[in-house]
Amino acid sequence: MAKYKLEYVWLDGYKPVANLRSKTQIKEFAEFPTLEQLPLWGFDGSSTQQAEGRSSDCVLKPVAVYPDATRNNGVLVMCEVMMPDGKTPHVSNSRATILDDPDTWFGFEQEYFLFEDGAPLGFPKDGYPAPQGPYYTGVGYSNVGSIARQIVEEHLELCLAAGINHEGINAEVAKGQWEFQIFGKGSKKCADDVWIARYLLIRLCEQYEIDVEFHCKPILEGRYRKPLDWNGSGMHCNFSTKFMREVGGKEYFEKLMAAFSKYTAEHVAVYGPDNHLRLTGHHETQSIDKFSYGIADRGASIRVPHSFVNNGYKGYLEDRRPNSAGNPYEIASRVLKTISTVPTA
Ligand code: ADP
Ligand code: MN
Ligand code: MN
Ligand code: MN
Repeated sequence: MAKYKLEYVWLDGYKPVANLRSKTQIKEFAEFPTLEQLPLWGFDGSSTQQAEGRSSDCVLKPVAVYPDATRNNGVLVMCEVMMPDGKTPHVSNSRATILDDPDTWFGFEQEYFLFEDGAPLGFPKDGYPAPQGPYYTGVGYSNVGSIARQIVEEHLELCLAAGINHEGINAEVAKGQWEFQIFGKGSKKCADDVWIARYLLIRLCEQYEIDVEFHCKPILEGRYRKPLDWNGSGMHCNFSTKFMREVGGKEYFEKLMAAFSKYTAEHVAVYGPDNHLRLTGHHETQSIDKFSYGIADRGASIRVPHSFVNNGYKGYLEDRRPNSAGNPYEIASRVLKTISTVPTA
């Protein structure tokens, strides 16, 4: 037997964006525990906006398990929050009720800023760095600094060690802005991985005295107002159903896009807060109130990859509207819901 450090991770009840919370309990197991071996646990919901003070117990129900390479015998336990009966999902628990389909594949491109002392990493104490241009996929100390590279590399290692389907990293358009990509089969699997990847990044950055800023337009107000104009952060949602990958066709594609157009408001409603600040029609975005699609068009709501058209309208599509602070459970579920309105025959 060995003592394992079980880090139970959950989403709190804050709005519009839930915060990640976690706490540790030690349990003995003969080997790395399976999901079925992990007990329910509880926490004080009155401290997380998930309960009134008088009856404050909430239940943590393990739903996914990951090795935690930062600790000896470390285990990350993704949890859903349940009511005290242990069976009824708490209202903040969107994961419990979302649509899922293991044959629908998702790829989220999570963009974010690293912030130091309340400003993007690498910004001078007063004023601005050189304008956007050299930072996207940039190399060199003046472009990306040294700490940022170290952080994103360490984060990659932690994600891979956890078994997350991490697919890559790039420095982004604004200074201090980065992206990682997570791929998964099914909305729950992919979104669990995104949340744990976010968790690992935030926790890693504690050591560097750096905050991860997931707001979709953090450089807008105050000392970062124009004259210089800075990109916002998205979380593009790439998706493909089995039908899209194997059958597809132009006719189905056009019906699908008509459905996406029809449900524009419903999509934007779950695509992350403050998205009107980001979806402006500038900085490789479409306006928030418009829907468009286009081949290789980064100014469209949905970008259709060249490969999709070349393969006879088969493959995956990229919804560019979800933002960096969006909840991947709800985003993936909304995509599935709209797809489900379009008949395949
Ligand atoms: P870009 O920056 O050009 O928009 P990225 O390479 O950052 O593209 O991201 C592309 C994403 O598409 C990746 O997250 C990848 O996992 C995802 N992806 C690739 N193929 C599929 C597919 N068949 N279904 C769903 N997602 C896919
Ligand atoms: Mn990308
Ligand atoms: Mn990007
Ligand atoms: Mn993209």
